[in-house]
Amino acid sequence: MIITLSNSASKKDIHALMHMLQHHNIDTHSVHDPRGQKLVLSKNPNDELVKLLNKQQIIQQTVKTNGKKYKLASKQTQSQPTKIPCTHGVIGPDTFTVMAGPCSVESQKQLASIAQSVKKSGAHILRGGAFKPRTAPYDFQGHGEKALRMLACVAKKHSMSVITEIMDPRDIELVCQFADILQVGARNMQNYALLKELGKIQKPVLLKRGLSASYNEFLLAAEYIMAGGNSQVILCERGIRTHVNELRFTLDLNAVPFLKRETHLPIIVDPSHGTGDRDLVIPMAKAALAAGADGLLIETHTHPDQSISDAAQTISLEQFDQLMNEINRLAPAFERSI
Ligand code: PEP
Ligand code: MN
Repeated sequence: MIITLSNSASKKDIHALMHMLQHHNIDTHSVHDPRGQKLVLSKNPNDELVKLLNKQQIIQQTVKTNGKKYKLASKQTQSQPTKIPCTHGVIGPDTFTVMAGPCSVESQKQLASIAQSVKKSGAHILRGGAFKPRTAPYDFQGHGEKALRMLACVAKKHSMSVITEIMDPRDIELVCQFADILQVGARNMQNYALLKELGKIQKPVLLKRGLSASYNEFLLAAEYIMAGGNSQVILCERGIRTHVNELRFTLDLNAVPFLKRETHLPIIVDPSHGTGDRDLVIPMAKAALAAGADGLLIETHTHPDQSISDAAQTISLEQFDQLMNEINRLAPAFERSI
């Protein structure tokens, strides 16, 4: 069960309520969300206790949960889709939000050309890695703060929002100064120390699915952020490891309708990492729209083959423009505006 407390509830009242529930062998987790304080209960109380709870003045609402461990992320506890504000309006059920840019921020010049072009093609949010999670420690690790400054400066010029990856809880304050959305990479989906810290901020977090994460693990990672009090979570399907070794990853589009049934959180699809092959990006981007995704995350570059990271999956700016033309043409058929 999730209990929404009324604003008038004092600390003492809440403490007494938690104590009473503990007496019934029910643990409580308190969530401070800007929309109000909630208590997440370890299990649903019996009918008699529910009646009693509903009579309490300090309780605004009680919502029973199903047996699943994700409760705040569950559609059962919030039937309306979560809408997340960004530059062009909201990320949510009626729009289709496109985030585009290079895998890594390489230079001001590179980023400026890419931003100008993707904005013209219709992208809403500028992406670019400042802190890069690389398999080899000797590979380019990102330009860090310098790259964050470039992202903020270039995005401002083109009235775009910024999304960039956060890897280390110690960098959250810094990244929040420059980014509108913080991205948790696939390799950090189960970095619980990071997720807990991101629960304390009030900026949207785009959470990428781990390379071999189940849907349940993915939703529970989102729940970690929400349990900390940050309800602005965007899920991102970015492909998983399968036996198909002809491609870098397998883009699991089943995830989109499955997660839509389970959660009210928006879902973005990343066909760049999901395929690892630039020829497959446009068809899979269109498939993501058809599957019900709320938007895309795309890697694009002025000279894709010269990208410092992820060159093989990076599309050219011309291909990105073609992608946007096709998405613009198809979006109305799926009742989405761009
Ligand atoms: C990225 O977006 O560049 C990235 C590293 O993504 P992922 O975590 O999905 O591999
Ligand atoms: Mn990348």
